[in-house]
Amino acid sequence: MKRAAVTGDPVDHSLSPVMHNAAFRELGIDAVYELWPATAAELPDVIQQVRQHDVLGLNVTVPHKPAVFALVDEVRDTARRIGAVNTVIPMNGRLAGDNTDVYGFTRSIEEAADAPRGTGLVLGAGGASAAVLLAMSGMGLDRILLTNRTRSRAENLANSLDIANLHVVDESEIQANLPEVGIVVNATSVGWHDEATPLAADAIASLPVGSIAVDLTYRETTFLRLARERGLHAIDGLGMLIHQGARSFELWTGEKAPVDVMRQAVIAEQRRRAGA
Ligand code: NAP
Repeated sequence: MKRAAVTGDPVDHSLSPVMHNAAFRELGIDAVYELWPATAAELPDVIQQVRQHDVLGLNVTVPHKPAVFALVDEVRDTARRIGAVNTVIPMNGRLAGDNTDVYGFTRSIEEAADAPRGTGLVLGAGGASAAVLLAMSGMGLDRILLTNRTRSRAENLANSLDIANLHVVDESEIQANLPEVGIVVNATSVGWHDEATPLAADAIASLPVGSIAVDLTYRETTFLRLARERGLHAIDGLGMLIHQGARSFELWTGEKAPVDVMRQAVIAEQRRRAGA
């Protein structure tokens, strides 16, 4: 039996084994997907395991996504641009590092709403934000605004991505731009564990009806509820999780991922946990 896994410190992707194992079962692939927690010091050993054993593929999550760069033999373009590898693909003894978060975000929007127009607004400048910004740069928006509590972090990210129509703005500058926003993304961790919202209710009330609000968390947050009540398309991060996983699966197996089976498995697991 082959193995695939996700590594991180700790591994925050506990839904990944559920969706990948459902996909292996569906396609009759003799493989199991596991959680391989590892500290930064242990990461080289994990990569060595992937090299030496019959491992189908590896996902990498926080905080190891940048560190994997130095441990693989080639880094593909998307991963290089956002400075993060989330998928390691073994190929005849060599390891390639890729990033499927950009694809995952793009597909999660495409499947839920019409292509956004006008201004894109991204809140937060951490690891997830880089993938969102690169995905948004391919959506044909007029401009993309990026704001972050720590402005210097947003500026560093914008400089590294080098996207022509991307502008860093202060929080105080957002309000005037809200009526032009076609898509707004919460890529901060605000609202992940509580009812806090990264945009106040009166700001959400200034967003155009029919535009898109995305929260990368896996549930309906206060931000998404307020956006839905305002008449926006409210999209959570589950689609991004599923599609980044589906793309990793395809890179490892060469098979078309059974996306609906993966989605059903994740939703069933979420329901099971909510009832537990
Ligand atoms: P990260 O690198 O730790 O960045 C966190 C971001 O949140 C930073 O921009 C930070 O601002 C901001 N922030 C934190 N607390 C804040 C506060 N009290 N007020 C204002 N801003 C605050 O995290 P990440 O990896 O980018 O993840 C961000 C979110 O996306 C998390 O909820 C994560 O679970 C989710 N995510 C989802 C997916 C998916 O597949 N759906 C994938 C990746 C991540 P500063 O720079 O000022 O600290």
